[in-house]
Amino acid sequence: MPAPKIKHAKLFWLGFFVFMFLVLAAHVVPVYAASTSTPALSPSPAFDVSRSNATTTKEIALTFDDGPYGTSTAEVLDILEKEHIHATFFLIGKNVEEYPALARREVADGDLIGNHSYDHSKKLATLSQSAFELNLLKAQLAIVSNTGISPTIYRPPYGLLSDAMHKVLVKDGFHTDFWTIDAEDWNYPKSPSALIIKDILAQAKPRAIILFHDGRDTHVDYPRGNLVDALPTIIDDLKKEGYTFVTVDKFTR
Ligand SMILES: [Zn+2]
Repeated sequence: MPAPKIKHAKLFWLGFFVFMFLVLAAHVVPVYAASTSTPALSPSPAFDVSRSNATTTKEIALTFDDGPYGTSTAEVLDILEKEHIHATFFLIGKNVEEYPALARREVADGDLIGNHSYDHSKKLATLSQSAFELNLLKAQLAIVSNTGISPTIYRPPYGLLSDAMHKVLVKDGFHTDFWTIDAEDWNYPKSPSALIIKDILAQAKPRAIILFHDGRDTHVDYPRGNLVDALPTIIDDLKKEGYTFVTVDKFTR
């Protein structure tokens, strides 16, 4: 009899599809559940520009730490203005209190400002979450009250980022920024301008984030002439190589 055979075939295929559905569901559902579960408190890995995007767009970011810092910051701002480019400044809260007009000029010039702690202490990475948060927000208050801008980016002094710091930064909505090229200009005796120029140009590549220092911790009158002398040549040579200058928030993170 043909009819029962067809019926059996139909039942076989129906059973097969139900079986396959159950197999797939068993595999897919846990993956979906895992991907949508609440993330653990531990923050995502630090931003690594070298892995974030393989673009070859010749964009590069100049960043300046430890200011504002008297005449050297003013000289850097004059150079940026003359070159018609913008940069990112990571400010020390205590220095903002010392030189509020310079911090305001950075904002007025269209540069991006970030938080670089209140006093650049080497102990920041050893502090509890609450003690670190106090330092972070003290710097934030100095910056906001003097510029009207509340930064959303933070660069840890010495690049030292503890788990406690990272948790607080994530909780308070900060993006942590590092760098990819260190000019080592902070070390005045060992970094004359010619060496800074040579090193930066040798390492420059698309999406690089260059670390300079328009200040030096909370020191007073630390010489910054090596940077100020090197900067115009670095900018001009990078322009000749086809680079455009962006603030760090323009990069895909
Ligand atoms: Zn610093």
